[in-house]
Amino acid sequence: MDALIPTYNRLPVAFTCGRGAWLFDAQGRGYLDGVAGIAVCNLGHAHPAVAAAVAEQAQTLVHTSNLFRIPLQEQLAERLCAAAGVDSAFFCNSGAEANEAAIKLARRDGARKGMAKPKIVVAEGGFHGRTLGALAATGNPQAHEGFAPLPEGFLRVPYGDAEAIAALDDPEICAVLVEPIQGESGVRIPPAGYLQQLRSLCDARGWLLMLDEVQTGVGRTGRFLAAEHEGVRPDVVTLAKALGNGLPIGACLATAAAAECLGPGSHGTTYGGNPLAARAALAVLDTLESENLPAMAAGAGESIRQRLADGLDGVAGVVDVRGRGLMIGVEVDRDIAHLPRAALDEGLILNVTGGRVVRLVPPLTLTDDDQQRLADGVVALLRRHLEPAAA
Ligand SMILES: *Cc1c(COP(=O)(O)O)cnc(C)c1O
Repeated sequence: MDALIPTYNRLPVAFTCGRGAWLFDAQGRGYLDGVAGIAVCNLGHAHPAVAAAVAEQAQTLVHTSNLFRIPLQEQLAERLCAAAGVDSAFFCNSGAEANEAAIKLARRDGARKGMAKPKIVVAEGGFHGRTLGALAATGNPQAHEGFAPLPEGFLRVPYGDAEAIAALDDPEICAVLVEPIQGESGVRIPPAGYLQQLRSLCDARGWLLMLDEVQTGVGRTGRFLAAEHEGVRPDVVTLAKALGNGLPIGACLATAAAAECLGPGSHGTTYGGNPLAARAALAVLDTLESENLPAMAAGAGESIRQRLADGLDGVAGVVDVRGRGLMIGVEVDRDIAHLPRAALDEGLILNVTGGRVVRLVPPLTLTDDDQQRLADGVVALLRRHLEPAAA
């Protein structure tokens, strides 16, 4: 590990294989995965449909570059645009890159409307990635530390407060970029109607509504996009994480009106949407449909939240159990950064965000038994860590 730049605090375990919602170490010990590679492996580990598609494509054609037409990429664009209610797609390799594309698109749109320094409205606590543009959009001062100068052109407002955005009076605003549910800052769900309010506001002011669905998208919250819960269609939406079930792929989807400002030569990437990644994503979309996974996520999420709420009822220190579909947060009143390590000893993989929130983003394919085990495991762990030692 000394040969790695120490950007991560890693847990002391390495997995050698996975099946469904389970990961196994070299000793064959199983761990129930409540994280899914951080909301990535929505179909579970080593899903046979994705494995077969990737293996076949790897033996056929992996990469040709965007100098040429890529039929698999075109197919994927059509499928995603139909699902998101937009018209066209740009493919890249990660969530940060998808957001960079969205930011560049918004700036171009502003520039053609005559803005010298177009600005994008973003939210406190928002997370959009670690590249400089996406980092500047990210509302976490800690993540900015030591990386000045960051790109300008972002106006930050409190999350979930549409009024705060309505009150902005700046003729150079070109877009609003937010997550439908904030993931990294602790599964923060905005008030009902927030996205609808943003939609009306953007329509009235001629701004682009850009949703970062890198974490919430691809079925995680019980719908393909979280925006569907409010019947909202964004002008631009970014996807990544679960899109390839672990194969790196990101997408920036946009309406024709928004996308037309990015003509030939305006943006690009070498790998983006190559045949291998596109094939993996097509297999993901097929499986999402054939296994009815968004609906499964809605049901599983409901039952896990219920079980968590029942099991944690009356436990001092538990502030909130919340979530949508299989994006679940359990907020407590103290720092629990050590919890993932303790969970590992119990054969459970979970994650803590925002310091005080247990985040569960398991595969959408959890069996009933996995669901119960996950909820009961978290309850037992939290009870043990929050309740004073039994006398
Ligand atoms: C993870 C995440 C990103 C960044 O994605 P990377 O693939 O790590 O670059 C951006 N936005 C949201 C909402 C995320 O959860």
